[in-house]
Amino acid sequence: MKITDVTVTEFSLGALKTPYWNSIIRTTSKGFSRIEVHTDEGITGMSFGGHRSHVTGRFKDLLVGQDPLNAEACWDRLYAHNRKPVAKGEYISAIGVIDIALWDLRGKTLNQPCWKLLGGHRQRVPVYAAGGYYEGTGADDDKGIAGLVAEMTGFLEHGYRAVKMKVGWPGAGLKHDAERVRAVREAIGPDKDLLVDVNNAWDATTAIRFGRMIEKYEPYWLEEPTPADDYRGQAAICAALDTPVASGENEFTRWGFRDLIEAKAVDIVQADPRTCGGFTEWLKIAALSSAYHLPMAPHGGPHVGAHCVGAVSNGLIVESYVHSIQSHLNEFVQPPNIAGGYVTLPDRPGLGLVWEEDAIQRRARG
Ligand SMILES: [Mg+2]
Repeated sequence: MKITDVTVTEFSLGALKTPYWNSIIRTTSKGFSRIEVHTDEGITGMSFGGHRSHVTGRFKDLLVGQDPLNAEACWDRLYAHNRKPVAKGEYISAIGVIDIALWDLRGKTLNQPCWKLLGGHRQRVPVYAAGGYYEGTGADDDKGIAGLVAEMTGFLEHGYRAVKMKVGWPGAGLKHDAERVRAVREAIGPDKDLLVDVNNAWDATTAIRFGRMIEKYEPYWLEEPTPADDYRGQAAICAALDTPVASGENEFTRWGFRDLIEAKAVDIVQADPRTCGGFTEWLKIAALSSAYHLPMAPHGGPHVGAHCVGAVSNGLIVESYVHSIQSHLNEFVQPPNIAGGYVTLPDRPGLGLVWEEDAIQRRARG
């Protein structure tokens, strides 16, 4: 079997009626893209989240003619055949999206789901609902505490047992963010898990101060409290707080995670299968983490991430946006099976994605 082509379908979904933001990034519009790897046997691997520039560059030339079942050889070509290999950045994420499409292709070729091919640990994996953004069309958070509470309790009605909210927007301030956390904890009750995400907004001193303010609300984790390259600051937070620090969605490759872990700057490893360099690289990071007794909680959605959690023995929980403000994806690919706080992974081959092909083609025509 040989790879014959790599293509991408990409389109904009236009402006959002209600923009939303985390501590640092305001989202005002949405898009969709799908990468396809074609073969001479008529089997096509697909993943979503890539960009046209990833394919029109050297990636296609490096893969055409290769045997897609040679996972390490394909990854190594994409990584090592760059002019000056670097272990971080957009180039690695681009490899990641193509690597995941290649695993979809491998699964379809071998008639096995990715979670089994990648390791095969369990078919039902814990999932949390990610949301709790600040929202509005102006400078203020129009959602307010009442809107936040309604959103979080709404996730429970969809069967989630763990929910995640944002903190750290300078417009909120520490006291108001602590009040938001208190309100959500009171609303969801003591038995559900509450995850708190800072999105890199703070220095270590601020994060420790806030961590102590909300400790009584029993956060499941405090996520990305400092900028992604502040290993030293994040290590200080890990040492100071009882609350585990989750981090890694902005980290790349086994070498980046080696440094993050060796710095004692992470308790829960959130390697994003796309960002970190694909399933091939994610498995190496999971193995490295297991040697330090650290659990894996992949960032970036359940369609791809649940396969990671289901593959390895140190998989903890996967993120889900399918019932949140980011659910625009549901128009193009059916949501995974989520019920009772778990994703049940498909028996279908590869990623097992069910594409809404008519909607994709209609949008692609513009
Ligand atoms: Mg995050």
